[in-house]
Amino acid sequence: MKHLPRVLIVEDEPAIAELIQVNLKHGGFTPVLAYDSVAAQRELDAELPDVILLDWMLPGQSGLSLARHWRKQERTKGIPILMLTARGDEPDKVAGLDAGADDYITKPFSTQELLARIRAVLRRRAPETQGDSVTVGGLTLDAATHRIAWQGQELRLGPTEFKLLHYLLKHPERVHSRASLLDKVWGDHVFIEERTVDVHVKRLREALGTAGAMVETVRGAGYRLTGILAKTPAAATSPEP
Ligand code: CA
Repeated sequence: MKHLPRVLIVEDEPAIAELIQVNLKHGGFTPVLAYDSVAAQRELDAELPDVILLDWMLPGQSGLSLARHWRKQERTKGIPILMLTARGDEPDKVAGLDAGADDYITKPFSTQELLARIRAVLRRRAPETQGDSVTVGGLTLDAATHRIAWQGQELRLGPTEFKLLHYLLKHPERVHSRASLLDKVWGDHVFIEERTVDVHVKRLREALGTAGAMVETVRGAGYRLTGILAKTPAAATSPEP
């Protein structure tokens, strides 16, 4: 029988938790419910899930502190965590990512978005790599030959954009803060303003053309490279002012 990815839902509001449970079941997952941190820990001790869906606001220990705790534990540190946050809580998103969450979903969210985000974090745990080449969506980067191709067509990038894209492709479907990109792409020994990241992201998008839409801006949090392109490519490809 096919393995149905196990999703631990940590959510204290029964109506929301049960709705997510039903949707995940229909979407081909094995949902497991926990209404608080104690129950969540009990489930983790019993069997490791493939993904954790973690509500920010929980009674007792908060989702944030749980995410931090699980990231530190050898047994749980590799499990993707998706945080559920309330609309507009942008400082929360940044704190959630800093605590080690892989991504977040803002309530209220559609079932389709939830399923897509879960599939995305599962995929990003296993990016398609062959030697020095990495592919996400139709975008391929070959580090050995320094070549980038979008749907078979070769693209030209500057050296910083190349490094930036290489990093994003190796860690797709995950939100990266500007500070973390500076650290990982530029190196933490340099002192560069975070605005520099925006400049290079803009150049990267321009150089990528149609594929530029894969580099998403996540308001209040940073950037994400996604293989799930927006449904309206016409709007996404219009040139930036
Ligand atoms: Ca809650």
